[in-house]
This record gives sequence, structure tokens and C-alpha cells, in this order.
Amino acid sequence: MNVTEIFETMEYGPAPESPTLVLDWLKERQPFGLFINGQWVKPASGKYLDTINPSTGKPLAQVAAANSKDVDAAVTAARAAAETWSKTPGHTRARYLYAIARHIQKHSRLLAVLESMDNSKPIRETRDLDIPLVARHFYYHAGWAQLMATELPGYEPVGVVGQIIPWNFPLLMLSWKIAPALAMGNTVVLKPARYTPLTALKFAEIVQEIGLPPGVVNILTGEASQVGDALVRHPGVNKIAFTGSTDVGRTLRRATAGSGKKLSLELGGKSPFIVFDDADLDSVVEGVVDAIWFNQGQVCCAGSRLLVQEDIADRLINKLRARMEKLRIGDPLDKAVDIGAIVSSAQLKEIQRLVAQGVEEGAVMWQPSWACPTEGYFFPPTLFTNVSPATTIAQIEIFGPVLVSMTFRTPTEAVELANNTRYGLAASVWSENINLAMDVAPKLKAGTVWVNCTNLFDASSGFGGYRESGFGREGGKEGLYEYVRPMWETSSSSSNGLPIAIESTHSSDGSEQVVSTDQVGEDEEDHAAVSESSNGYHLAFPAIDRTPKMFINGKQVRPDSGYSRDVYDPRGHVIGQVGEGNRKDIRNAVEAAHAAGGWASSTTHNRAQILYYIAENLSARAEEFAKRIVEQTGRSGADTATEVQAAISRLFSYAAWADKYEGAVHRPPLRGVVLAMKESIGVIGMACPSEYPLLGFISLVAPAIAMGNTVIAIPSQQSPLSAIDCYQVLETSDLPAGVVNIVTGDRDTLSQVLADHDDVESMWYFGPAEGCKRVELASAGNMKRTWVNYGHQRNWLDLVQGEGEEFLHESTHVKNIWVPYGE
Ligand code: NDP
Repeated sequence: MNVTEIFETMEYGPAPESPTLVLDWLKERQPFGLFINGQWVKPASGKYLDTINPSTGKPLAQVAAANSKDVDAAVTAARAAAETWSKTPGHTRARYLYAIARHIQKHSRLLAVLESMDNSKPIRETRDLDIPLVARHFYYHAGWAQLMATELPGYEPVGVVGQIIPWNFPLLMLSWKIAPALAMGNTVVLKPARYTPLTALKFAEIVQEIGLPPGVVNILTGEASQVGDALVRHPGVNKIAFTGSTDVGRTLRRATAGSGKKLSLELGGKSPFIVFDDADLDSVVEGVVDAIWFNQGQVCCAGSRLLVQEDIADRLINKLRARMEKLRIGDPLDKAVDIGAIVSSAQLKEIQRLVAQGVEEGAVMWQPSWACPTEGYFFPPTLFTNVSPATTIAQIEIFGPVLVSMTFRTPTEAVELANNTRYGLAASVWSENINLAMDVAPKLKAGTVWVNCTNLFDASSGFGGYRESGFGREGGKEGLYEYVRPMWETSSSSSNGLPIAIESTHSSDGSEQVVSTDQVGEDEEDHAAVSESSNGYHLAFPAIDRTPKMFINGKQVRPDSGYSRDVYDPRGHVIGQVGEGNRKDIRNAVEAAHAAGGWASSTTHNRAQILYYIAENLSARAEEFAKRIVEQTGRSGADTATEVQAAISRLFSYAAWADKYEGAVHRPPLRGVVLAMKESIGVIGMACPSEYPLLGFISLVAPAIAMGNTVIAIPSQQSPLSAIDCYQVLETSDLPAGVVNIVTGDRDTLSQVLADHDDVESMWYFGPAEGCKRVELASAGNMKRTWVNYGHQRNWLDLVQGEGEEFLHESTHVKNIWVPYGE
């Protein structure tokens, strides 16, 4: 083809990148071993697996098939390395991370070509996006290693982290996992995906090259059933970080339940791409190309649902079809290619199956006129119109180059349609009206919202989902919390100052009761003083019977069961009754909590005022509340007065935080800003601790409502009267109905209902270890967030253990809204 012809046709010629250097590199090393303790070792099984080039369907290299013995060896190495690495100064860790970033850049072309061959991503993407972002992640987290001591005081590394990554962004997901883990002083055992292990192995070489201490990073290739499972269940692993399918995420939630392992899950999505009628349609078309045909649509946050305002739908669809006709599919090493092959024949078959189902369900399918290469696992860009929101292709993550489009009329309808999914990973909004875009963005249930852009990522801006897209964030300061824990949890002094050494006794109904060892038998006088109440009237008349009810939707309600349960003092005397709540009461409370969702959009000033007001009203009745705690626990008057004052102070703290726990504005390397907004989670169920009947309740409820959540609280199992008494305080404090709901009864039965409930977004549980496990297991249903104490006690009076950032962190998640600017 000569220049004149090129000028006439404007056709691209081939621009292939040479694979020679990568093929030589592979030849020299294969079969690859496992990278354990800084060494390349043979797999215990003696077995190897082929990795395939998806664009040819032919084997590329052989990698080791690890099994549980190798997992053991790698975890042992990581544990040993953690001893030193966790104590290595932040500055030293920063230097290592910086060196990794530098070496990634030095090997960037080899990595880009290798990634392209192993996954079949176009070289244009691996060269210009994946690899630069990988380097950026290590640079950015070198900074956090440097700053950890001053910016995260009171936190320490989690320990050994098991990391499991998918095949769609092999090296990028590795960097998202390894960089923050190392920066925070953890050591890792990482399992790459079966289909795409090669860049992780090159990364291991880089780790060796820069002299990272042995055992800090260990890489195990192999199959999920052999490596992944063993890693997840290994008792020497303190945290699992996973990116992949929601189904496997659910399996991991169940497998780790009750183990005390931290867990972060970055799962699937069905992200909306919303186009209003005033959008710049040419930009929209390029946006759609990036949203769904980038990486062959194998992107967790792919804009796979195109939602278009009705009056421009035909125009946009026509433009889109014209653009699709021009997309170039083929050899991913060709620099002029837009779309490579699908990662595997199994994934290709799954896409074909779902597309056939879409046609069967009545949607209209359109594909460009050109044909795909016949060798390799290619699938053409595909557009569905006439799609009904309830059909399979509108709901299920296809994870391929398949776009489904639907229309809406009004912004409200757009938001409803966008949120009509079990996922909540990302969304993009297209409009030239910034007021409209910024009004819609916070209403979208998604961890990331892109305004007039899509699929932008940066280490400074956390990424992660809501709902069944998982929990936890990667990137940004918020992502660091996934790799640390409060120091007090492990420090030997954690039991110091704990006023209550927990011991189980049994009350007269046989149920377990928690009392303090240092309180039984003391303060006889105090207790007697309360029960004998000096006025003496009760000697002449029976006391007026008072039956505390439950508190649902701002009203005092009787339990649906019609049963009450006795409340005992430590000596087994009945001191009152509370309602025996059941599934129906919880259901009503969840409904009320949802209906009170407007609380999240009330101003932070307003929420602060109400918290101050609650404190004021509690203070007016401080003495009465203290006596009530004496009655229930037998603790001394002075001790219970301290508890009440601490509860009042805590309300003040969260009133203070209500308008101060704010987000951030990030400045990623682009013309624009990212608004990191701290948002409420929604409806939170909480089982309050047995000890500290008032302070435990306030310590959980106050941060949650300060951050705009609505709650269903199960008060202390043994001493529920203090929390129940609070409803009178709440009723007189202008708190809207449904923001706080209190259901009494059996803690574990009620917690189970809350943890199972699909409309509860997070569940907190402070009780025995078995209860924690049950809550974590049940939460896998809708992948709700959980916060449990694994049976460990907390000193609720202590300012570090009983209040502060940890509580605020658990009450919020971060939504990142990307707003580019410039003409
Ligand atoms: P998976 O979720 O199965 O795989 C992700 C990672 O988890 C891989 O390393 C895999 O290992 C490992 N794994 C799988 N099962 C277990 C287990 N029981 N215990 C521990 N580790 C496990 O994703 P697939 O590759 O099977 O893709 C299936 C679908 O998942 C896609 O069609 C897509 O919808 C979704 N997906 C979502 C991603 C995202 O970024 N959110 C990424 C990838 C897929 P191995 O590779 O050896 O099987």
C-alpha cells in the first residue's frame, strides 16, 4: 500500500510489536518454578501447567502447579519474613517500593508484550495503561510506607496476606494488592489466575533483582482448587484479599467466616453508562468504546449497561454502530488493534451462551459486518437494543464485549434503572450540565462514578464496590485500612485497664449471662439502696408495673410474638421484662430503617445538632441511667456513673465528627479532580456488647447515625434495659422516626435474621466467637459488610478502643467521583 492509497482509504497498515525478546525470555526460564522465600523452587507435586496465548490458542509456557505443601512453605516463609518486615522502618520499606517502581519502568516493554501475549490485551493498552499504572501504584504506596508512622498512628500491619487475583488485569491487580500490603508492613503469598501467571513471575524476578528480603513476596502458580483454597484456609494467613467473581467471593466469605482473617473482596459489576440528552454525543461514543470494548469488555467495572435518554437514543445508537464498524480486532501485538481475543475458550463459550440467551429473550442483537480472525478466541463487539431491564443480559455480568442498551425519560428514572442491579461497582454519567451530573452522581449506588469519562483509575483514588460488588477499597488512603489493624488488638497491654474480666454464669432461665468477676459480691449496699428506694412507698403499694417495649419506626411497640423475656440481676433476681423480638419485628425494623433513608441526605450540621440534643437529654437523666446499670449489673454506683458520663461524652464526640469526618479531593495525573466522598452505608444491624449496657449501645449507634446510617440495634443480651430506656431520650431529641430501631430478644437469633436480610447493608456483632462466625457466614448472602469482634473484648471506656476513626470507618464507605475539566 502506497502513501496515496493510505491517504485515500485512511486504512491502518499493520504495526506489529515483536515478540522475540519475550519468547527468548520464556525459553530461558521454563518450566517456571514457584517463587518461595526469595528462591525459585520446584512444585511439590512435580506437575506443570500450560499457559495459552488466547489469540492463537497455542501454548506459551509451562508453569508450576503448586499444591497445599507449597502453600505451607510459602506461608511459613512469609511468616518468618513478617517478623522483620513489619518492624522495618517506613523509610526503608519506601525505598524498596520505590525500587520496584523503578524496575517496573525499566522492564516496561517486556512486561507490556508479555501481558499482551498471555492475556491477549491489545499492546496499546498494556503499554499505555496497565504497566504505567502498575509503576504508579508502587510509587504512590512508597509514599504511604514513608508516612505510615505519622499518618496511621495506632495501626500496625495485619501480618501475612493471601492474595488471589484474576486474569483480566494480571499485573495491575498484582500491584493493587502487593503495593499497599508491603507499604503497611505485611508480607504476601500471591496466587495469579490460572490463565495469566506470566507477568507475576516476571515481577518475582524484579523482586529478586532489587533485593527485597526473602519471604516478603511469594508467588504460587497453580489451580484454584489446589492453591487458592489452601491459601484461604491456611491458619497462618491473617488476611485474604481477592478480586474475581461474586460467586467465588461468596465462597471465600464463607470459608473465612469466624476465622478472624480480614477479608477484602473486589467482585463483579453491571455498571450503568448514563447518557442525558444534552451530552456531547461524539465524546459519548468514544466513552462507550472505552467502557465496554476496552480489554474486550473483561473489566469488572465495564460500562455494560448503556442507559440513554429516550429522545436521543436512535441518534446515539446509529453513531455507535458506525463506530463499531470501524473497530479493529485481531493480533493484540498489532499497535493498531483495538480488540484482542477473549482470555480462554471457556470464557468465550460463556459469552456466546449469554448472547444467545439475549436473542432468545427477545433483545435485538447487532454486530459489525466484518468477521473475526478464525484462529484464537475472538468475539466481535456486540450491541443489544430492545432490552428489558429484567432480562438475563441486563442483569448478569457477561464479562465480554457485549453492551446492552435501554432508555429512560427523566433523571429519576435514570437513577432507578441504574440502581436496578445487585451490583454497585461503578457508573458513568454523561451530561454537559454539571449541576445535573453532580446531582445524579451521589444517588448512584456505586463505589466510583465517572462524570463525562469512564474507566479512569489512579492509585490515589480508592476503587471498590457496594452490595454484591464486594467491600473494601483498593488505592487511596482508604485502601490502606485493608492492610492494618488497631495496635491495641494485639498489644499485651490490651487487657490492661479492662474493667471487666468476662466470665460466663447462667441466669435462672439457663441462658448464658456475662458478669464481671471483680464485681460479684461487692457493692451490696449500693444494690440494696436501689432496690429498697428510700421513700418506702413500695412497702405499702405494689410498684406500677412498667413493661419496656421495643422501639420501631419511632414508636414503642409490643413484640409480635406476644412473649416477654425476663431480665435478671447478677444474683438471678428478675428485675424486669423486655419483649421477645422475632423475625417479624426485625422485618418491620428494617423496613422502618429503609424508610428513614432520608437521614443520609440531612445536613451534617443537623445530625450533629440532634446528637448533641440526645446527649443533653441523657445528661438530664444521668442519675437514673446509672442506677439502672447498677440494678442490672451489680456494679458500683461510681463505676456506672462513669459509664453514663462516658456515653454522654461519646455522643459529643460523634456530634463533633458528624460534620468533620470528611472526604478528600484527589488530584490524579489528569486534568481534573476526584472527589472522594465519605458516604453512609445504609441500614446497619448491630448486636451490642453484653458488657456496658448503655455505653456499648451508644458507642455503636452514635457513630453510625452521625454518618447518616439508620440502625437496628439489639441491646446487650443480659442487660437490655439501659438501651431500651434510651428510646425515651431519643423520642425527645428530634431524631426522625426509623433512624434508630431497638429490638430486644435473643441476640443470636435476631442477629442471624439481620445477617440474612438482603436489605441490611452491614452487620456489626459484638458477642461470642461462634456468633461472629454465624454472622460472617450469613452475610455471604448479599455480601454485606460485617464488623465483628471474634469474641474478643474491648474496653469501651477507652478512647482508642471505644471510639474514633475505626468506628467512623466502619460507618462509611468512599465514593470517588471523577470530574475531568477543560474543553
Ligand atoms: P474467578 O473468580 O473464578 O477467579 C478469580 C481468581 O480466584 C483466580 O485466581 C482463581 O484461580 C481464583 N479462585 C477461583 N476459585 C477459587 C476458590 N474457590 N478459592 C480460592 N481461589 C479461587 O473468576 P473466573 O476466572 O472463573 O471468571 C469467571 C467470571 O468471574 C467472569 O466471567 C467474570 O464475570 C468474573 N470475574 C470478575 C473479575 C473482576 O475483576 N471483578 C475478574 C475475573 C472474573 P484460577 O484462575 O486458578 O481459577
